[in-house]
Amino acid sequence: MTLTIPFDNSYAQLPNSFYARQKPEPVRAPRLVAFNADLARLLGITPGDVQDMAETFAGNAMPEGAEPLSQLYSGHQFGHYNPQLGDGRAVLLGETLGTDGERRDIQLKGSGRTPFSRNGDGRAWLGPVLREYVVSEAMHALGVPTTRALAAVETGEVVLREGPMPGAVLTRVARSHLRVGTFQVFAARGQLDDLRKLTEYAIDRHYPQADGPMGLLRHVRDAQARLIAAWMSVGFIHGVMNTDNSSIAGETIDYGPCAFMDQYHPNTVFSSIDQFGRYAYSNQPDIAVWNLAQLATALIQQYEDKEAAVEEATEIVHAMPDLLQAEWLARFRAKIGLTTSEEGDQTLISDLLKRMAEEQADFTNTFRALAGDAARDQFTNPEAFDNWAEGWQARVTREADPVATMTSANPAFIPRNHRIEKMISAAVQGDYAPFNRLNTVLAQPYLDQPENEDLRRPPSTTEVVQATFCGT
Ligand code: AMP
Ligand code: MG
Repeated sequence: MTLTIPFDNSYAQLPNSFYARQKPEPVRAPRLVAFNADLARLLGITPGDVQDMAETFAGNAMPEGAEPLSQLYSGHQFGHYNPQLGDGRAVLLGETLGTDGERRDIQLKGSGRTPFSRNGDGRAWLGPVLREYVVSEAMHALGVPTTRALAAVETGEVVLREGPMPGAVLTRVARSHLRVGTFQVFAARGQLDDLRKLTEYAIDRHYPQADGPMGLLRHVRDAQARLIAAWMSVGFIHGVMNTDNSSIAGETIDYGPCAFMDQYHPNTVFSSIDQFGRYAYSNQPDIAVWNLAQLATALIQQYEDKEAAVEEATEIVHAMPDLLQAEWLARFRAKIGLTTSEEGDQTLISDLLKRMAEEQADFTNTFRALAGDAARDQFTNPEAFDNWAEGWQARVTREADPVATMTSANPAFIPRNHRIEKMISAAVQGDYAPFNRLNTVLAQPYLDQPENEDLRRPPSTTEVVQATFCGT
């Protein structure tokens, strides 16, 4: 059987100024190491034989209907504007309309140099490819909006990072790859026609109900507020919330140095390149507002009457912190078993988090244990929990089914960093058992799986991963 992908491409119909037509660079000996059959079905893809799929998802063979291209964008990286980024190692093959009617991009990442590669080699190594595969699929199962992983191939080539590493290509699926930075590049260059066309395209593709550029801004704000609240609720730290990694569709995108927290602390940072903690766990809501302000600034450029647009955009951006707070509160209420709202809820949640930080409690396991009777064991000093629990118990008596609420809001399983690292080490040695196991277990993160209890265990002191690397 040959692999068939029912392409229906829209980005390739946009003007040439939006992208560079670019074929992937073939690799020496592609080997398919992962294929997401469920996602393929959703996309309307008919799988082919394994070698056929390896050739396609490595970029050696172009499937019929593909119109490969690399997208142009720019963006603020750690607060500084970089006038040109673009897909430096990615090629969009095209889009499909899924069985759910949703349009999605199919992109190869690590597929070779492009006109936007700057000094990069256009490649990816196996570690980050498998990390993105596992973590993005886990995020999806957790109910967090995210890009997804369709396939991973080893290239049979060596990539130079800290040392020689096995090369790999990830096939990434996204509702689109439009970013805040896609708007910024046209705004900064004064390409107003392109900016208007992009705005129209984004509205049409993602928010058809939006009224003009400011309507788009409102919808992106709401989607981003929901997204960041979802991250916070599962203890996820993105690590590189640059505007080029900020999705217009409101999906988590670019799993570079991301990580889930083990012990709760609001200032947690993993990324080795985030020296000043700009993208620390508790800064993520503020950064999302900052990123939205950059989108607002870009969108405004297309107005004749800038003064009125500035006023409206300011009002839209200024409303974001309250929206974020409301989304955050709804998520964290559910985490402690609440579906109704009362005056003291916010304080109750903050008090628990404060105690968790002081008592080195594991974020995931503490919340999951609230539905049982073992939460206190997560605290170095369990009385700190008992003190809090008195008030909480009183509050929870006014809820119909707090256990059910908590069980569906607090996952048992997250992709813990030390497990990801071990999975990568094994795969580099040719052992894919840990990779396959993580994918299987993390597909049902809210289900108790007694036989997989070991995957719930936080890292021991020697297992703790101190830093994650962008050297992807
Ligand atoms: P990221 O940190 O993955 O969001 O990437 C930021 C920018 O660097 C994007 O324009 C990427 O395409 C580019 N980039 C990252 N790694 C490479 C690489 N190995 N070769 C070429 N470009 C890269
Ligand atoms: Mg990126």
